[in-house]
Amino acid sequence: EVDWFSLASILFLLMFAPLIVYYFIMSCDQYQCSLFDPLLDLLTGKKHLSDIWNKTPTLTYRAAGIYTLWVAFQVVLYVFVPDFCHKFLPGYVGGIQEGAVTPAGVVNKYEINGLQAWIITHVLWFANAYYFHCFSPTIIFDNWIPLLWCANILGYAVSTFAMIKGYFFPTNATDCKFTGNFFYDYMMGIEFNPRIGKWFDFKLFFNGRPGIVAWTLINLSYAAKQQELYGQVTNSMILVNVLQGIYVLDFFWNEAWYLKTIDICHDHFGWYLGWGDCVWLPYLYTLQGLYLVYHPVQLGTANAIGILVLGLIGYYIFRMTNHQKDLFRRTNGNCKIWGKKPEYIECSYMSVDGTKYYSKLMTSGFWGWARHFNYTGDLMGSLAYCLACGFEHILPHFYIVYMTILLTHRCIRDEHRCFSKYGKDWKRYTAAVPYRLIPGIF
Ligand code: NDP
Repeated sequence: EVDWFSLASILFLLMFAPLIVYYFIMSCDQYQCSLFDPLLDLLTGKKHLSDIWNKTPTLTYRAAGIYTLWVAFQVVLYVFVPDFCHKFLPGYVGGIQEGAVTPAGVVNKYEINGLQAWIITHVLWFANAYYFHCFSPTIIFDNWIPLLWCANILGYAVSTFAMIKGYFFPTNATDCKFTGNFFYDYMMGIEFNPRIGKWFDFKLFFNGRPGIVAWTLINLSYAAKQQELYGQVTNSMILVNVLQGIYVLDFFWNEAWYLKTIDICHDHFGWYLGWGDCVWLPYLYTLQGLYLVYHPVQLGTANAIGILVLGLIGYYIFRMTNHQKDLFRRTNGNCKIWGKKPEYIECSYMSVDGTKYYSKLMTSGFWGWARHFNYTGDLMGSLAYCLACGFEHILPHFYIVYMTILLTHRCIRDEHRCFSKYGKDWKRYTAAVPYRLIPGIF
């Protein structure tokens, strides 16, 4: 059942999320990243909506060409280039891997080759920047708004296609979820794991590429633009590139682990993932770099080191917490966490066909400190990116506000799901680990 609050939030997002993205990017393009000046101009009558709209770059053939080539290239890397990295990178898990058991009891296989796609793409990027010079490394920045229209077209097309596919030719009909509410189904998705053919998995492809592979390229394009405009790249831009680069690389290094996260394990594929991955992620997760093109901040050494340390500690907590759960689940509890055998709570649940399954919820390590300490580490890293931009404008700080809302909401959503899944066992777990994000506080 869809409650009125969920429905109101969904309608709000469907109507306003594309406008929010446009507003942020336009305010950089026309107002030097000030979020207030456009509003002020409109409210005082200095400008009309049409003035702003008329100054907005339109869709161009060039942007459409770049975007089509980009997505097609990522599809080729995903579908036609089997993973090679796991054959020579010690510790890396790639190639064919299994996902979690779906509610209908299916275990999907995935070709994990994201790291390889990321490496090939970046090698080609640097080869072009330093040797071939086929296009300028500022190409992304220079076409940023025309590319936004292309990303929106793909985001809406893929979400609409997923909805139609869910009704008429689902990959697995028993894993579909229909609430009967059109808007909810469009936003949150019907099919659990839509696929074309055996290997083209919508969730894995759209979640990881083209958005996350592009993330680091977008940042590099911003750094190149700083170099072009000011003759140097500031330390804040380097910090943003490095800290976000670590986060992206971590994502691909752990792509097999990602199969066990909420996005893949529990969310259905609709507009939330489809449009979100094509538009929201590449445009709003990279606001710090965009801002620094317009406001090149050079941090003092102490501030730069402080931000770097905050970002690295955040990353360490994020990675270790996720790693502890992954190790615990992979070994079924037969492992060591901080040098000791982990403690856990035994729990059980039923799948839709009535089969009973058993699972374990760990109460050791970071999972004994809080129920989502991985989110806490993620938030510390996010804060570091924002702090690198200084305090002259609020635009680059949108990310930490957004991540706090996203991860708090996600935490509550996940706990609601876990309670429905595990019932009284989940209550035993929350009694053993009473805090969600910050031990002793929340
Ligand atoms: P988690 O990796 O925390 O997964 C939650 C699931 O883990 C639960 O549904 C439950 O699943 C299982 N679980 C919960 N508690 C325990 C426990 N004590 N022991 C063992 N298993 C447990 O959540 P996410 O998938 O949301 O996040 C993964 C990472 O991705 C996080 O670090 C997050 O910060 C990051 N992330 C980043 C985003 C971004 O936009 N940058 C967006 C979303 C996530 P089960 O049903 O299997 O028991």
